[in-house]
Amino acid sequence: MNNNNNYSNPLETAKDIEKIVVSGSMRKYFGFKEPLFEGDLCCADIVGCNLSCIYCNSGTLIENPDRVGEFYSPEDAAEKIVRFNSEGVRISGGEPTIGKEHLLELLNLIPKNLTVILETNGTLIDRNYAHELSPFENLHVMVSLKGTTPEEFQKITLCDKSGFFLQINALKNLIDAGISANPAIINIVNASGIDKLSERLEEIDKKLAIGLEYERLIKTKNVIENLAKHGVFAD
Ligand code: SF4
Repeated sequence: MNNNNNYSNPLETAKDIEKIVVSGSMRKYFGFKEPLFEGDLCCADIVGCNLSCIYCNSGTLIENPDRVGEFYSPEDAAEKIVRFNSEGVRISGGEPTIGKEHLLELLNLIPKNLTVILETNGTLIDRNYAHELSPFENLHVMVSLKGTTPEEFQKITLCDKSGFFLQINALKNLIDAGISANPAIINIVNASGIDKLSERLEEIDKKLAIGLEYERLIKTKNVIENLAKHGVFAD
C-alpha cells in the first residue's frame, strides 16, 4: 500500500504480506539449509518482506511470496531446525518478524542450548514485540539498517522514510527489553553518514555503536543492474 508520496509504508505492507505468508500459526518458508561447516548455524529461509530494498538478492522470496515456499507449523519448522544437529539457527531470507504468533511459538520450541539469530529489518519491533521476545535468552537480534538517514532509507528501500525511525526504535526497544542485539548496515550507504548514525546509536547504548556490522553487497548481475537503475553505483 502506498501513501501519498508514493513510497510504501512498511507497517501497512507488512499487513498485506502477512495475509500471503501466514496462515493461522503456520508461516511460509522457502526452505532450511544445513550448516556449511562445523560450528556454523543452519538457516531457516523465510518468504515475504515488507521492504523493497534495491540491493536485495532474495529474489522471488520477496517479489512473489504467493508463488514460492511452503507453509510450516512452528512444530514442523522446529523439527527441521533441530534435525540438523547444529549449534543453532539463523532465521533470515525475508522478514521473519512478519507472523509474530508463529515466530514466538517457534522460539518456544527451539531448545535453549541452540543459538537463534534473528536477522530482521526491525520495522515491526515495537515495545510490545520486543517485550514478547525478551524471555528467549538464546536469542540474538541483528537489525539490518537500510540507511544512515531517513532519506537514505527511503532511497534504498523504496519505502517511506518514517521506516528509518522504526528501525532505530527497534534497537532501542530491544535494548530496553534486555535482548542481545546489534545493528548492521549495507556497504552501499554514504560513508559520510556513518558518524551521525553512530552518534544516534550511542545515544541509545554505546554497545550498539561498537557492534555496528557492515553487510557486504552480494554483487549479482540483477543487483548491480537494479542499483544502477536507482542511481546507486557499487564499488
Ligand atoms: S529487508 Fe532484507 S529481505 Fe527485505 S527487501 Fe530488504 S534486503 Fe530484502
